[in-house]
Amino acid sequence: MSDRIYNFSPGPAVLPEPVIRRTQAALWNFEGSGIGIMEHSHRGPQFVSVLERAEALCRELAGIPDEYRILFLTGGASSQFFMVPMNLLGAGQTADYWNTGVWSAKAIEEARRFGQVHVAATGEPDGFSRLPERASYSSAPVYVHFTSNNTVYGTEFRHEPAVPAGVPLVCDASSDIFSRPIDVSRYGLIYAGAQKNLGPAGVTLVIVRQDLIDAGSHDLPSMLQYRTHAENDSCFNTPPTLGIYMLGLVLEWIRDAGGLAAMAAHNRVKAQVIYDFLDESEFFRGAVQRDDRSLMNVCFRTPSKELDAAFVAAAEQRGLAGLKGHRLAGGMRASIYNAFPREGCDALVAFMKEFERAHR
Ligand SMILES: *Cc1c(COP(=O)(O)O)cnc(C)c1O
Repeated sequence: MSDRIYNFSPGPAVLPEPVIRRTQAALWNFEGSGIGIMEHSHRGPQFVSVLERAEALCRELAGIPDEYRILFLTGGASSQFFMVPMNLLGAGQTADYWNTGVWSAKAIEEARRFGQVHVAATGEPDGFSRLPERASYSSAPVYVHFTSNNTVYGTEFRHEPAVPAGVPLVCDASSDIFSRPIDVSRYGLIYAGAQKNLGPAGVTLVIVRQDLIDAGSHDLPSMLQYRTHAENDSCFNTPPTLGIYMLGLVLEWIRDAGGLAAMAAHNRVKAQVIYDFLDESEFFRGAVQRDDRSLMNVCFRTPSKELDAAFVAAAEQRGLAGLKGHRLAGGMRASIYNAFPREGCDALVAFMKEFERAHR
């Protein structure tokens, strides 16, 4: 690791070292086949077993029930912003959305193209610095959509929002998927771009209950129907083979580290290192309400915009990269997903203390 620095990037984000090392070898010659992983047919036995292994690991790690399908798609989480309503929200029907930040707002905007959207809760009046406490749902929503972790503002749901009985819960879990145990049976559909907690950019994981696949619109291009990908085991067209391979390696790494409960414990400790310092500092302060703090994206500020910029620049000089906050949120953001090491959090706090002493 000596020539690598601490990468706090919000995504694409740091990957586990063993995953990168194994990928390096597989790129040249995958499991003795004489062919690199990127050069294998997606219909050949080697890749088919890669795909099956990735799916089996998802099921094992998250305890995913049989009535859910696991799909590996392209187009990023952003394509799910429209695929979800395209498939599930008919004209004249209503879907309910929690608006808790930039990504929820984009999901809402896309859904409006297909049907009625009822914003059941919004954090906008608080500048998204806290999660709304409750929602006011419409009379018969076809689903309720929420964003489990708000990557830009640094808030995260501790548990799923309550929804009216029988209404499927749809979740954009792009920035906290598999960072903690999840009860998939509480959801209708979960989606996540891989590039934060699961692997490289280019593959999107979708976990969807079979009855929602069956209920989906037929009046869509084949590629945009969930059933197409479910019926063809994510190989209707050429899937993102390298991304799926790496996602499988990341899942193996999570399993070998003790699974989702171990990830959660590790992530809590990492975030606590930074939040504890923010709570004692008289210079730095956290950007969001305490109870809603994200374990994945820690957002904080100095007393001024000028000092924020100076901090980011000085941190970069010290090998602490990617700390600049999103342009809409300002300040700093330390993204510390599953693969981000504890030592990097310690290094950040040590540098924050030094910066505070010099600028207080
Ligand atoms: C990064 C992110 C997205 C966007 O993902 P893409 O794969 O780039 O489309 C969507 N939602 C959340 C919560 C994110 O963090």
